[in-house]
Amino acid sequence: MADTLIKVDLSQSAFENDMIHNRWHPDIPMAVTVKPGDDFILECVDWTGGQIKNDDSAADVRDVNLSHVHFLSGPVGVEGAEPGDLLVVELLDIGAFPQQQWGFNGFFSKQNGGGFLTDHFPQAQKSIWDFEGLFTKSRHVPGVRYAGLIHPGLIGCLPSQDLLNTWNAREQALIDTNPTRVPPLANPPFPATAHMGRLKGEAKAKAAAEGARTVPPREHGGNCDIKDLSRGSKIYFPVYVKGAGLSVGDLHFSQGDGEITFCGAIEMAGWVHMKVELIKEGMSKYGIRNPIFRPSPITPHYNDYLIFEGISVDEAGTQHYLDVHVAYRQACLNAIEYLTKFGYSRAQAYAILGTAPVQGHISGVVDIPNACATLFLPTEIFEFDIRPNANGPTKFLKGDVDVPLAPDL
Ligand code: ZN
Repeated sequence: MADTLIKVDLSQSAFENDMIHNRWHPDIPMAVTVKPGDDFILECVDWTGGQIKNDDSAADVRDVNLSHVHFLSGPVGVEGAEPGDLLVVELLDIGAFPQQQWGFNGFFSKQNGGGFLTDHFPQAQKSIWDFEGLFTKSRHVPGVRYAGLIHPGLIGCLPSQDLLNTWNAREQALIDTNPTRVPPLANPPFPATAHMGRLKGEAKAKAAAEGARTVPPREHGGNCDIKDLSRGSKIYFPVYVKGAGLSVGDLHFSQGDGEITFCGAIEMAGWVHMKVELIKEGMSKYGIRNPIFRPSPITPHYNDYLIFEGISVDEAGTQHYLDVHVAYRQACLNAIEYLTKFGYSRAQAYAILGTAPVQGHISGVVDIPNACATLFLPTEIFEFDIRPNANGPTKFLKGDVDVPLAPDL
């Protein structure tokens, strides 16, 4: 059995674990060191560090402190890794802890986090998902049960100082175009709640002042939230610092493409068993600027889908030019409207799209002025027939439109 190199205690604050950090900075010391060819296990807290509880109120989602996220386990130093190499990471297995067989999905309040459909769902709401081996179901969203495509939402290597400076400069320039926007355009460094692993004193203060937030995906990978980066996949990461400094967290039991609910997929604490190798000077050999990966040979197998189309004309009827963000939003809203005909509340339908193995595709981006995005909803995850037929939909559920899942009370 592989060694567990980083352990977490779910009853302890993540700030007290010096093998965890919540910002990106090259000065964060390696928590552990491994050799190419080693396999090992890292344990992870959930992305919020345990702020969200298994109960029926969304007050915790409404009041979540987003400056704490994401709590990452690492960095793992790899002997011999140098800038310009590729770090090859094979995700051998991923799991939840036996004592915590559940995860959460939520929508942030528009005032604290927002999300893809925040104008339609401005209130915080939450659903709890129980795990049954490979499968998950929710007391808040009846009528669906599906196999999880378990994956880390966030994984990547430490940036160099140059790369970090680039990130901070370009994101601040974006914030400066509308500094008072709610939700904000991006999140600048926020030293007050920075957790920099083992860094202490002045060195910590300096790094915390410029440590990049973990929210966006960047050149190193990071918070990509790619559902297909699941157990069994192999990822090729650019290396920017000596030792690479691999960190991982934000484990998801399952997620739809886009992670549209933002808080988030089915979020969970758990463990990752991984193996690392190096490809010396691999970045230039293969022309790699962002990570690439190979998928798992084992994925949930759904054959039948209802596929919803969306175009880049927004809810007010305004024409946008080839805007895939607007188009995907329309595809999602069309799927939500459809699911309400079976008795789901709009919030329950949104939760399904955020958590189930829903596929999102950019189907067309050249047919001016409309982009076409498609959302693939697997029909086999439902415990009843959701396909259209001549008799019209039968209400299988007695949900009320716009009744919150677990409200923010
Ligand atoms: Zn997540």
